[in-house]
Amino acid sequence: MKTIHIALAIVFVILLGKQPAFAQVTEQTLKDHVYYLASEGLNGRIAGTKEGRLAADYIAEQFQSTGLTVFSDTTNYYQNFIRSRKFGSPSTLVLGNDTIGVTHINKASHFTEKASFSFVRPEQLDETLKNDSNVCVLIDAVSLDEGIQKIKTHHAANQGVNPYMLLMPDKKRQKSFRINLKSLKKADDAYEVYILTNYLHYAHDKKACDDYLQEIEHLNVLVANSKLFGNLRLSNAGMDEVYDFTEKQDSIVVTNYRNVIAKIEGKQADKAAIVFCAHYDHVDSTYSRKTKGEKLSNYYPGADDNASGTAAVIEIAKSLKEAGYQAEQTIYFCLFDAEELGLYGSRHFARTLGHDVDLVINMDMIGRNKKDRKRCDNIIFAKAKGDTGKAFTKGFDKYCKDKAESLKIRRYDMDFLLLLMGYPSDQASFRPQSNTSVFYTGLHKDYHTHNDTPEKINYKKLTEYVNMMSAYLISQQTKSNEQLTAVNGK
Ligand SMILES: [Zn+2]
Repeated sequence: MKTIHIALAIVFVILLGKQPAFAQVTEQTLKDHVYYLASEGLNGRIAGTKEGRLAADYIAEQFQSTGLTVFSDTTNYYQNFIRSRKFGSPSTLVLGNDTIGVTHINKASHFTEKASFSFVRPEQLDETLKNDSNVCVLIDAVSLDEGIQKIKTHHAANQGVNPYMLLMPDKKRQKSFRINLKSLKKADDAYEVYILTNYLHYAHDKKACDDYLQEIEHLNVLVANSKLFGNLRLSNAGMDEVYDFTEKQDSIVVTNYRNVIAKIEGKQADKAAIVFCAHYDHVDSTYSRKTKGEKLSNYYPGADDNASGTAAVIEIAKSLKEAGYQAEQTIYFCLFDAEELGLYGSRHFARTLGHDVDLVINMDMIGRNKKDRKRCDNIIFAKAKGDTGKAFTKGFDKYCKDKAESLKIRRYDMDFLLLLMGYPSDQASFRPQSNTSVFYTGLHKDYHTHNDTPEKINYKKLTEYVNMMSAYLISQQTKSNEQLTAVNGK
């Protein structure tokens, strides 16, 4: 049935002659995405929680269903990353152990790595270790001797199937710790030991730090920066999954997050890329003061913020893939995690991409009517600069004015649009800022409340917008192919 529908849609579109031939997305499909993402079972898609993971899995399945290409040399669409922060009371974590290694040493990022982390409760620890030989136990210890003793005890009790990570957070401990490091591997070869250390507590300049790392290069070291921990904004994400281990103060909480990314590779893979993005995470119902007096167990659905943008990016990606779209430039389709905690997902992506980007198109809250006036279907967006950005924003604006039936598109300068938004979104993670655009329908009274529910979304508008965007991109590709053919004289 679906094939027939698609075939009919294509024929219909060709007959209309209005837009390039591709299978247009239906209102129902977008509705299904928003209703699922905003459902109670997903509990607000809070970054770092298992419900957040369910949302990520859903997006990945959507990418998979049309065979979109994974984003880098990974085998799936996930880009895992972690954030850590100081935690007033003690903690222990059980960590996934795919790839833990030495991290970059530079001012911007002292703490990054690629492991997939998960948290367990104390009563789940034994079973987790039994079922998964790939987890790593984090041990907080005052001294190296104490840490080794704890590892030995644990090792004996658990048949030593798992690697261990020693957490050595404070300054005093670092000194004796360093002295003992060299002998660690020989003495305890039986255990796979990772060290979580904090070089700023040890060394204040890069050279000292490099020396330090060289000294312990036979070990797996995860370097963390205390200043960074101190500056990070506290959030409730994942907190309840972290449990006490010792009575020490000044422990570190590590939370795992996950971007979901697909791409359509360009004919010129080296050319600066285009990024289409939206964040899929939302906020905890304890996040806003508006909840005072309300039941905290009641989740925030986040239908407009930002199931709407998520649904749009998913469907634009799928439409382009199904239409066999391939442009000169690579396009990345990114659904970012942890935007609500401080744009962490997009910052991680932007910092680690290793591919120049000359246009970022972000969609954040595009499902409501501006000022919630029933008949106003405006979507506003920022003018991007740079050659690609100018061509896109002007071109898309004109395309909609010529072809859209009821969708009204308005272009503003980014500064003005940001004033209207009143908060930054993922486009702010990319440099240069001038090459970014954000699509938005306006702030409303339901923003970050229990009332941002799926039935309030204007699906007709959302559908027309998604189809316009896909149609526009496909039309540009067709145009550039024609130009190429003309140049080549064929
Ligand atoms: Zn948002």
